[in-house]
Amino acid sequence: SGYVVGLTGGIGSGKTTVANLFHELGIQSVDADLVAREVVMPGEPALETIVQHFGSSILQPDGQLDRAALRSRIFTHDAEKLWLNQLLHPLIRQRMLQQLAACTSDYALLIAPLLLENKLQIFTDRVLVIDVPEELQLSRTMQRDQVPVEQVQNILNSQISRSERLRLADDVLLNTVPVVELQAQIQPLHRRYQQFAKEKLA
Ligand code: ATP
Repeated sequence: SGYVVGLTGGIGSGKTTVANLFHELGIQSVDADLVAREVVMPGEPALETIVQHFGSSILQPDGQLDRAALRSRIFTHDAEKLWLNQLLHPLIRQRMLQQLAACTSDYALLIAPLLLENKLQIFTDRVLVIDVPEELQLSRTMQRDQVPVEQVQNILNSQISRSERLRLADDVLLNTVPVVELQAQIQPLHRRYQQFAKEKLA
């Protein structure tokens, strides 16, 4: 329909969980993180450009981009990081928009952890923030990824604050209830988005 709802929230807030519940209602989504991986798959022009720039040591033996090697090459090298972002950001945006345009559900979700940090809300009609207290973000992510609290805290610190995120939200879903109770909270949002999408089309 061309109506896009941006779905965002901090690390471990429940974006994937919530998107799955929307899928059960027939709503399609585009995942910005997946798109970012797609543009550097073997055979993509961007991967060749990266290899020309950093050398073939940036590849794994199987020809896939060695993401850890790339991260360490741009970490604390602002010029390299800028070069990489200028290469990849337009490609990611273009592919994201193509995939959103190909969605056939009443509206589409754009799932992006860094939606607000990267100002991707310019491509959305509405922003839905999944909100959880920090303690719950930490404990759920630690349990899911089996990583120490410091590692999760570092990622959390690199993202915008909870209050800033809430300030930029059109809708907020508080994800402190059990997953089985979330579907009931998503229903009214779903109906509103269907209505908004209809109005946009008209
Ligand atoms: P990331 O940004 O790190 O990819 P995310 O926002 O997609 O995370 P999820 O993976 O959906 O978050 O959720 C984080 C963890 O918390 C998962 O293990 C998930 O099963 C669990 N979880 C999500 N929502 C709830 C809930 N309402 N009750 C209990 N556990 C939950």
